[in-house]
Amino acid sequence: MSASGADSTRFAALVRSAKSVAVGAHVDPDGDAVGSTLGLVLALRSIGLNAVPVLASGDSVPETYAFLPGSGLYRAAIDTDVPDVFIALDTPTFARLGDAESLARSADDLIVIDHHPDNARFGTLSIVDPAASSVGGILWELLFEMDIDPDVDVATCLYTALVTDSGRFSYSNTTSRTFRIAAEMLEHGVDVQRVFTEVYESRSVGALALIGRTLERVTCVDGDSIAYSWVEDDDFTQTGALKAESENLIDEVRALRGARIVFLMKRSPGLVHVSLRAKGSADVGSVARAFGGGGHAAAAGFTFEGEIPDLLTVLLPALREAHG
Ligand code: AMP
Ligand code: MN
Ligand code: MN
Repeated sequence: MSASGADSTRFAALVRSAKSVAVGAHVDPDGDAVGSTLGLVLALRSIGLNAVPVLASGDSVPETYAFLPGSGLYRAAIDTDVPDVFIALDTPTFARLGDAESLARSADDLIVIDHHPDNARFGTLSIVDPAASSVGGILWELLFEMDIDPDVDVATCLYTALVTDSGRFSYSNTTSRTFRIAAEMLEHGVDVQRVFTEVYESRSVGALALIGRTLERVTCVDGDSIAYSWVEDDDFTQTGALKAESENLIDEVRALRGARIVFLMKRSPGLVHVSLRAKGSADVGSVARAFGGGGHAAAAGFTFEGEIPDLLTVLLPALREAHG
């Protein structure tokens, strides 16, 4: 189901009457966060609106997505004036907006566009479609409903959102609608191979070494139905891999035959970020929420205060329960 006609009419009215629009997404942005933000900003600019992309964390766009058209427009949220309208993409709660939270709270209107099932619908207008594989796909449909014909730059950004969030059209969120939208994007000129090369085949040699460490540490429990691995801050310094290059590391672990739930821990002193993935029908989103995080049924995450052994003591029983 796409955004209802009433939603798209309200969206169009709000943005068309705004003197300034800022668009942001969740902290530690992934391909959907960056691609949907830049695609929407470029589309709004193409109809003469004053729109800027803002970073919820960090001071530059992740290297992997710097090739996207419009990436030079990004500014830090803390250096951005409060806009008439703030648009929060791919973000289920105020807190996940990081540095951009105060812009979102202070703007005259806040528009939320997301596909997280646990979205708090915290906008003046909230368009939430959990059946969509990416926010990029929701925006693609919304633009047509607003009679905006996307140019190749907009299509490239939104395609990058679509291809990354669907696991290159392979995760359980991939549907015929995902492929239909992709086909339309290609008809608008997207260079599929270029996006693939930039996103998946532009790793540094350090990032490959980090994959090696991740694979060496894969640990299986419960006869391989749960598998996990981890990386630490030292691994990044020693291999030279960039933090942004670890976004898809979890995919290396999910390759394991028979694994139903996989997770990857990224450890800093006293803090562990956990990425959870379900390959079958288990709901790892509810496990992540129980640990103060969130996400989708098949892809979720949370941050744990403590060390890996303590985390495993509580997480493994929770995951066993989740996969039944
Ligand atoms: P990740 O494992 O970081 O790639 O994230 C997978 C999914 O879980 C994404 O939809 C994230 O938005 C969500 N997620 C990750 N970490 C958190 C967190 N600390 N709190 C809420 N949601 C999260
Ligand atoms: Mn995301
Ligand atoms: Mn997303």
